[in-house]
Amino acid sequence: MSERSDSGAGEFEFNQHEALLGSNPQLYAQMVRGVSNYGIYLLDRAGIIRSWNLGASAITGFTEDEVLGLPFEVLFTDAARFDGLPERTLQFARGNRHHKDEQPRRRKNGQDLVALCTLDAMREDGGELQVFVEVFTDITEQKQREAGLYQRATRDALTGLINRGHFTEMASMELERARRFSEPLSLALLDIDHFKLVNDSHGHEAGDLALVMFARVCQDYSRKIDYVGRVGGEEIAILLPRANKEPAYEMLQQLRLGLMEQRLTAPGGAMFGITVSVGLATLRSHTRDLRELMRNADAALYKAKREGRNRVEAWFE
Ligand code: GH3
Ligand code: MG
Ligand code: MG
Repeated sequence: MSERSDSGAGEFEFNQHEALLGSNPQLYAQMVRGVSNYGIYLLDRAGIIRSWNLGASAITGFTEDEVLGLPFEVLFTDAARFDGLPERTLQFARGNRHHKDEQPRRRKNGQDLVALCTLDAMREDGGELQVFVEVFTDITEQKQREAGLYQRATRDALTGLINRGHFTEMASMELERARRFSEPLSLALLDIDHFKLVNDSHGHEAGDLALVMFARVCQDYSRKIDYVGRVGGEEIAILLPRANKEPAYEMLQQLRLGLMEQRLTAPGGAMFGITVSVGLATLRSHTRDLRELMRNADAALYKAKREGRNRVEAWFE
């Protein structure tokens, strides 16, 4: 075991930096300049770039000559600049001495990048603000990987709709919200009629085309605040926050008619269409949970199938 405590080790390192800076400032500057994975640079009080290291060049594509003397706004995307992000960042660092954030930046070639940045305000012995030092790294690939993973975990690959798991999660949250604010909420289950026949007559590929079209129509007729999820093979659920039975029923009728108008061409050349049966349930004060609401919508769907398909049925007690 080492005799040295943690704080002792920190002090030791700090003294080393001080000693190196005192005895050989050029070597110290070279060391910072040579770091290649991290962008490290200084900004003056006004936010003008005053130094630039190898890592900053490697990440952004801007050379030292190109950025020295420019405001650090040049490192941001147009949208971030327009939004006032550079100035807000400096303001925050002025007030709090430290700022850490993931920010939309740009490369010299115009490409966007996501940078993890820390900005520290340096003062002279507790006195006036002298400079800012920013350290940043490129986390674009990591963010893209995360977005890809999230996409795969929450979306259905064929239709692009949210999957059953994510739909259930969002619907549970919306149900809680609707209850808390005493707002209406409706849930619809839509099941393609005789879809097995579509596959049998036109092939599985034609069936897939029909599913993609069905998903698109469902989204076209839904509002921005609705959730449209693929909850089964040929079954889509639509959750309609702040909609009671009448407007939900009206919307679903329009959707059903809109779907009937769509024609598809099977890989073999045959034209075909699909129809859908819909079950609608609306949140009541005594509805226990999402499962019960789903069960009610399913009962209404069953009724729609039984009464001849290609129709909307609302659940009633
Ligand atoms: P109903 O009107 O009673 O709903 O009859 P249906 O034929 O639609 O119902 P059933 O449940 O018997 O058959 C559903 C069919 O959906 C069977 C299955 O092959 C098909 N299906 C499920 N998922 C997919 C898919 O991803 N692609 C294709 N092409 N077909 C699918
Ligand atoms: Mg089904
Ligand atoms: Mg079906």
